[in-house]
Amino acid sequence: MTTLRAVKGMNDVLPEALPRWRRVEAAFRAITARHGYAEVRTPIVEPTQLFIRSIGEATDIVEKEMYTFVDKGDDMLTLRPEGTASAVRAYIEHAVHGREPISKWSYLGPMFRRERPARGRYRQFWQAGVECFGDGGPFVDAEMIDMVVTLLGELGVQDLEVLVNSLGSGDTRDRYREALTAHLAPHRDRLSEDSQRRLASNPLRILDSKSPADQELCAGAPDLVDFLGPEDRAHFEGLQGALRALGTPFRVAPRLVRGLDYYSRTLFEVQGRGGELGAQNTLCGGGRYDGLVRTLGGPDVPSIGFAMGIERILLLTGGADTAPTVDVAVAVADASLREEALVLLRDLRAAGLVADGDLRGGSLKSQLRRAADKLGARAVLVLGPAESERGVVQLKDLAAHSQSEIPRAEVVLRVQALVRESK
Ligand code: ATP
Ligand code: MG
Repeated sequence: MTTLRAVKGMNDVLPEALPRWRRVEAAFRAITARHGYAEVRTPIVEPTQLFIRSIGEATDIVEKEMYTFVDKGDDMLTLRPEGTASAVRAYIEHAVHGREPISKWSYLGPMFRRERPARGRYRQFWQAGVECFGDGGPFVDAEMIDMVVTLLGELGVQDLEVLVNSLGSGDTRDRYREALTAHLAPHRDRLSEDSQRRLASNPLRILDSKSPADQELCAGAPDLVDFLGPEDRAHFEGLQGALRALGTPFRVAPRLVRGLDYYSRTLFEVQGRGGELGAQNTLCGGGRYDGLVRTLGGPDVPSIGFAMGIERILLLTGGADTAPTVDVAVAVADASLREEALVLLRDLRAAGLVADGDLRGGSLKSQLRRAADKLGARAVLVLGPAESERGVVQLKDLAAHSQSEIPRAEVVLRVQALVRESK
């Protein structure tokens, strides 16, 4: 029989690696909470149409990367490739706009894209992100960018670059699309196959192409910012002013477009510069999607959001894997005392202590070795037949290398005191 393995590009996170994940998640949860974001949880599977209508037909995600299937009821479903479409769907479905003018949501969970796996690029990966509905910016845009930079700083990612651009709105893009097409059309034959196709369907996507030939041809392309109308320009200048006021370093990247069609006005990306990331150096991408709520059947609600890739942040923040440790272990000198150990363990846990024991019935020596080496216990409580008769327990303080006998009734308090002093 062939051994079953995880799906290519999808990773297990074993318990020893989890503390590093938790640290990133906790920092994300803490900073978003401080900014007034509340967590939303939406299904991992959505109707395929949701992503086609929001992300856009002529995008890499929709054309090539979605995990789409027909379920037994003949519904066409897709594993979510990103979080914004689902959040917007839920926002409209629950008529949230009717209850409050501004909604600030955060989310954290796995996303699915059938890409070519590489370091920092997986088929199931985790994103943490936020969406802010109801504020047209530009101050909230700056606040969000600053929040991401602060978060990454708290996590120890220092060497990063913030890129911002504005896509403008409505006719800006139409005019820019024409200019870009005019710039690229004479070189059509030198574009990659995908880009040749997109020259007609979605030329802005070509700016986001990873093909070196495409990038070279795009280098001389006109800048989006030169096409902004007065209101879009004022918005973009407002964003830059606010970032300067906050002291958040940034660089205007005039050809930054990003891979989703729903963006308008503000676009941003945070890139890491650590060696571990290689080509996958975008830690976080975001932008404004003022027209999306309406496109999906809701009211006109300007919105902005971002998502960051947890695995990419972990590649930069490093840190060693750590096994979980316990405060106290319980060991028995005789197998007949295992029920007593069970009760003692329960009492210790009821008092809030992390307690564990090996009750398989092995030798005391092996139990003590496991307590010290594997469980990382501060103390071990040893139950012996003679001690049990006298109503006492032996307490081994593994840090102080000392040993004492204590009445069973005082065990929990004594261990609590010991643990408190060592923390
Ligand atoms: P890239 O240009 O690297 O493909 P993207 O533009 O597709 O990124 P977004 O859709 O904006 O990325 O997603 C936001 C963030 O999610 C990215 O900046 C990245 O950190 C992470 N991310 C996206 N795709 C993957 C993936 N396949 N594996 C791991 N992380 C990913
Ligand atoms: Mg991508």
